[in-house]
Amino acid sequence: MFNVDKIREDFPILKRTIHGKPLVYFDNAATSQTPQIVIDAIVDYYSNYNANIHRGVHTLSQEATDKYEEARIKIQKHFNAKEAYEIILTSGTTDSINMVASGFASFLNKGDEIIVSALEHHSNIVPWQMLCEKTGAILKVIPMNEDGSLQMNEYHHLLNENTKLVFCNHVSNALGTVNPIKEIIDAAHKVNAAVLIDGAQATPHIKPDVQKLDVDFYVASAHKLCGPTGVGLLYGKQEWLEKLPPYQGGGEMIETVTFEKTTYAGLPHKFEAGTPNICGGIAFGTAIDYLNTIGFNAIAKYENELLVYGTQELLKIEGLKIYGTTKEKTSVISFNIDEIHPYDIGAILDKLGIAVRTGHHCAQPIMNFYKIPGTVRASFSFYNTKEEIDLFIEALKRAKKMLA
Ligand SMILES: *Cc1c(COP(=O)(O)O)cnc(C)c1O
Repeated sequence: MFNVDKIREDFPILKRTIHGKPLVYFDNAATSQTPQIVIDAIVDYYSNYNANIHRGVHTLSQEATDKYEEARIKIQKHFNAKEAYEIILTSGTTDSINMVASGFASFLNKGDEIIVSALEHHSNIVPWQMLCEKTGAILKVIPMNEDGSLQMNEYHHLLNENTKLVFCNHVSNALGTVNPIKEIIDAAHKVNAAVLIDGAQATPHIKPDVQKLDVDFYVASAHKLCGPTGVGLLYGKQEWLEKLPPYQGGGEMIETVTFEKTTYAGLPHKFEAGTPNICGGIAFGTAIDYLNTIGFNAIAKYENELLVYGTQELLKIEGLKIYGTTKEKTSVISFNIDEIHPYDIGAILDKLGIAVRTGHHCAQPIMNFYKIPGTVRASFSFYNTKEEIDLFIEALKRAKKMLA
């Protein structure tokens, strides 16, 4: 049974006060909070078996290696990858995307086309622009609708035999829109284009099955999944990971080195140059275990209740407009009140103990579409409550009165 009071006990930070008020943490789309079990995994690593991995014959090194590789298998199972070596541990979503973009530089020719969606995070726009500059490939954009959905008809028109890559987020971090990624992937494959899905915002709410999706690359960050910062994953189909050249040279990623020629290590080590975030990788595995103990169905159901309740209560505030109104949404609400600057609302909410995000949410093209400087974004997690939403609504009414 889903028991939010019990779940809240797992998160020490939720007992904090901010300016004398109980913390209401509604900035989960930027980063999630960390349960005690993940904090314990980090402390355990540094207290008991801190050592470099894959190279040592000594016990500590073997223990650390075993735990790190166990974490990779947990992640593999969670995403249902066929092989553990298809999971590359990276420093996060941004790193994973850059790894693929850099690798594709050697496959693309002038006139090839890359498609991205209008809903992308900057980390999923800039690497492709850099790739286009380097290769002469052309960037095409799937336009969006007023409700925050993608114009899928336009997408189907954009696809052609020059399309080599399609990039889209699974869920938009700015609006919460869940994109029809299965349709996007299947259509791209009909013209033999590869697809990379940015799952940074989807993975806290949805358990993706990379084999069922038949996706070529899927990326995510641990810190949005109750794990630590500085670690994430790149899932790649084996055939793609074998084709892609290595991203960085260094230790760990080689098989043999002489000054005449170096041969690269096999997967996944080919893409894991240098000493990785060992502790982070292990704690990522613990975070995935933790979330699966609660269960993604229970999480999705409860978060949807918060979304429905929050939306209904927010819309009672006169002059409040919500951006992103599709039916398929995660628990993210982006909004403005009249012409009040989002930053001013955010500053008052903070004084009242409430953490939200304000600004363009690393998605300036979406803000340009709506012709606004930014929004206030409240994003709920499974450890939030309706009582917190009530406090938030009261605080917003106060902020509105002060700023009107
Ligand atoms: C957070 C986020 C990113 C960037 O993730 P990092 O962990 O900062 O690398 C990329 N895309 C989306 C949709 C995000 O929500």
